[in-house]
Amino acid sequence: MSRQKIAAGNWKMNTTLDEGVELVSKLIAAEKDKSVLAILAVPFTHLLTLDKKIKSKGKLKLAAQNCHYKNSGAFTGEISPSMLANLNIPYVILGHSERRQYNHEDNALLKLKVRAALDAGLKVIFCCGEDLDVRKTSKHILHVKIQLEESLFSLTAKEIKNVIIAYEPIWAIGTGETASPAQAQEMHNSIRRMISRQYNKRVGEAMTILYGGSIKGSNAKDIFAQPDVDGGLIGGASLDADEFVKIINSFQEEE
Ligand code: PEP
Repeated sequence: MSRQKIAAGNWKMNTTLDEGVELVSKLIAAEKDKSVLAILAVPFTHLLTLDKKIKSKGKLKLAAQNCHYKNSGAFTGEISPSMLANLNIPYVILGHSERRQYNHEDNALLKLKVRAALDAGLKVIFCCGEDLDVRKTSKHILHVKIQLEESLFSLTAKEIKNVIIAYEPIWAIGTGETASPAQAQEMHNSIRRMISRQYNKRVGEAMTILYGGSIKGSNAKDIFAQPDVDGGLIGGASLDADEFVKIINSFQEEE
């Protein structure tokens, strides 16, 4: 089955609006593989301006990096799924390890967020992944299984079609340490089988699963060549237009 190839950049809390506009201008102008969908998860403050800039630029889409689980209310400083949907922002990242760590977001809260985002009509990029201690005890697959079970598996087969899974081993995020292509493939294949078991084989085969963790122009090709890796979620390297374009252009040609 051929799945959409995706390179998603996570800008995190980086760039002023001016810098963001400059980065997007370079990305628009660059020679890119037209079969790859590039998603840019930018700060909330940039969404409207960048949306106008990339309008009708086909394979370039925007994502928010988080949203609340309620659509309105007394939650000072928060942004709701319906606010994003109202701006026609198509994607939201949920469950990034930095939010799990610094904002204490657990699987139960993420279940509420996923539900609210999907109900508002957003597509969810759901992050999962283990830390180094879990990896060292070889419990990484069980760890991810629990994350999926507790946050995603109450969704119906129809609903989960609007979810993209991003496997991001925490020990590889921002550390320069990348999972080997074989380690990425092992986890991605396990995730695909978990989805097939929970739903059915068709849903499992259709699921887009991204790898994230220190992807660069120099290592993307080997990771993207793995059969169950459909692309990447890229942090640091997505802030450099040349590097991100190199990553976008790292997928194998369709046979
Ligand atoms: C991320 O933030 O999701 C990420 C994978 O970061 P980096 O590419 O910098 O490791």
